[in-house]
Amino acid sequence: LVFGGPAPRRQSIPVDVRWGENVVTVGGGAPVRVQSMTNTDTVDAIGTAIQVKELAQAGSEMVRITVNTPEAAAEVPAIREQLDRMGVDVPLVGDFHYNGHILLNQFPDCAAALSKYRINPGNVGYGAKRDTQYSQMIEAACRYDKPVRIGVNWGSLDQDLLARMMDENAQRPTPWDAKRVMYEALISSAVGSAERAVALGLPANRIILSCKVSDVQDLVAVYTELGRRCDYALHLGLTEAGMGSKGIVASTAALAVLLQRGIGDTIRVSLTPEPGGARTGEVVVAQEILQTMGLRSFTPMVIACPGCGRTTSTVFQELASKIQDYLRAQMPLWRDTYPGVEDMDVAVMGCIVNGPGESKHANIGISLPGSGESPAAPVFIDGEKVKTLRGDRIAEEFQQIVSDYVARRYGR
Ligand code: SF4
Repeated sequence: LVFGGPAPRRQSIPVDVRWGENVVTVGGGAPVRVQSMTNTDTVDAIGTAIQVKELAQAGSEMVRITVNTPEAAAEVPAIREQLDRMGVDVPLVGDFHYNGHILLNQFPDCAAALSKYRINPGNVGYGAKRDTQYSQMIEAACRYDKPVRIGVNWGSLDQDLLARMMDENAQRPTPWDAKRVMYEALISSAVGSAERAVALGLPANRIILSCKVSDVQDLVAVYTELGRRCDYALHLGLTEAGMGSKGIVASTAALAVLLQRGIGDTIRVSLTPEPGGARTGEVVVAQEILQTMGLRSFTPMVIACPGCGRTTSTVFQELASKIQDYLRAQMPLWRDTYPGVEDMDVAVMGCIVNGPGESKHANIGISLPGSGESPAAPVFIDGEKVKTLRGDRIAEEFQQIVSDYVARRYGR
């Protein structure tokens, strides 16, 4: 039996993304970072600041906001101010397309209030203007000493570069297929744009790269090759992952393979929320990918069996869900008060078959009675049976036991 674990992390140049005292290092062996993006209109400074705060409290270590118009750029300092007033020091990342060279130069307070700029080399301009406009954005990053993410996306690939590579490829003795040419163009665009930024004076430790596509196998291939060709820190994400379980599964499949290969310094899970659904869902999924792979710990894990014909009521599913919600809700407070609590496991099991065994492996576990079993729920702490709960207040009593255990075990 061989326990492999993930491959050693790819060596990358560390990039500090900072706001005030908060320095989030990306790459260079730092923990894989979780980030997310708002979906509010940036012109709505209050609404955007509230969503940024929610994402930060959910665990997003950087939050990106759209900066698409002069009106949006004008509001960025107000968003930053609101966050500072609320004591939220999460770094803000400005997402620029088409007009970033104008906005960063005409709105210096916006350029200063952001902690990082996302630049898409596929839409900084066309023809002769491309180089000038790209240079203006990089010069702004140098002037304000901000890192940039050079984010290439197959939906907005540099068409001049693609056309040139199509021509060059047509002259090969054995031409590549169109897909290979496109992905080569994606990687060339990212690496070439980074080299151009360095030539313009932006240090390599201010550059993060991404190359997003929406197909799982293609994303794995593109990032594996991108990681081989450069040592910049890499931002991973499956673009347009989609809604619900499809988006979660596709993102997890793609990111898990890359992370297992040691590739990736920061991740975003791009999920389309249900109408009216919380934006924070993508942060939870990103954290769960990293935690279930054993790469980071964010919140205590609840281990629950799926239930089967031996569970004739929904009591244990309700208890598992209540305990998971309770643990998540406590984390903003517990994170500082009880260091290490994020590594705790809590088992909530449906019957005697696997209940006691699984509960003994967890820090705390409860085995609820299945059908035909006596109506008693043994509780295990650190492998030992400590008591048996009965009656209709099992959920409340178990929650209290968890809370007491946390204070005893993780309190300073
Ligand atoms: Fe079914 Fe019991 Fe296994 Fe849960 S622990 S899945 S209730 S047999």
